[in-house]
Amino acid sequence: MNVVERLVPRHDLRVLITAGANGIGLAIAKAFLDAGARVHVCDIDAKALTALPEGITHTQADVSQEADVDRLFEEAASLGGLDVVVNNAGIAGPTAGIDEIDDESWTRTIDINLNGQYRVAHRAAPLLRKSQGLLINLASVAGRLGFAYRTPYSASKWAVVGLTKSLACELGPEGVRVNAILPGIVSGPRIEKVIEDRAAKRGISYAEMEQENLAKVSMRRMVEPTDIAAMALFLSAPGGANISGQALSVCANVESL
Ligand code: NAD
Repeated sequence: MNVVERLVPRHDLRVLITAGANGIGLAIAKAFLDAGARVHVCDIDAKALTALPEGITHTQADVSQEADVDRLFEEAASLGGLDVVVNNAGIAGPTAGIDEIDDESWTRTIDINLNGQYRVAHRAAPLLRKSQGLLINLASVAGRLGFAYRTPYSASKWAVVGLTKSLACELGPEGVRVNAILPGIVSGPRIEKVIEDRAAKRGISYAEMEQENLAKVSMRRMVEPTDIAAMALFLSAPGGANISGQALSVCANVESL
């Protein structure tokens, strides 16, 4: 296999992606489907699940509910094993100062963004040992930078990096790789809502807030969901075989938040 061939994932991968019905998860699901993989996704959005491209199977499941994650793994068993598991589910959490955040929104952010990844990793580990597979955890540049007024989100994403690095050390000797992808500002409806909330918090316009955000990105642009999907494919290809325990930013170089 030459170096160029090593950039292409195997055509028979079995892939599970959480929150795969919209946004980054959907872009990753489509990319694996295009690469010939068999793909199973979960999501809480029943309507979006029914609109998935043909060939992607699904389970309606909330990663914050243990019983849902159990059912997800029961249904994903139809793939006959798993080679790649993508822990993608994550919520923005509240935009609020430390004096205003309430216990419920703090706990919910951690429960989906961190505990949800644990629940999936816990059930995926035996399957990944069997396949010598790969776990990809979606973190964020907020998992390597401080993010004022988004403390629960940032704390959860730093924790995802800790989860990733620890599991890479633990499972590496058994042939399993674990990496985190840290997206920057990804274009799409989610970021529009984040900019809107932050602009309201600061009392400035949407355009001013967007401009301010992009001024902190070296390339002065957002990234696309397909940029994140491309990194997931690369990690899954033979060329990525010696990449583990890494927090890989795909962010056009976000310098601060
Ligand atoms: P999104 O807000 O577009 O949501 C994606 C999907 O998550 C939706 O279909 C939603 O129904 C589903 N979902 C929400 N809660 C869920 C739950 N509890 N269980 C299962 N599914 C659930 O998200 P996105 O922007 O595509 O982000 C995907 C991941 O990437 C997240 O972990 C996010 O933190 C991370 N990320 C996103 C950005 C960005 O700019 N969009 C930047 C950095 C990191």
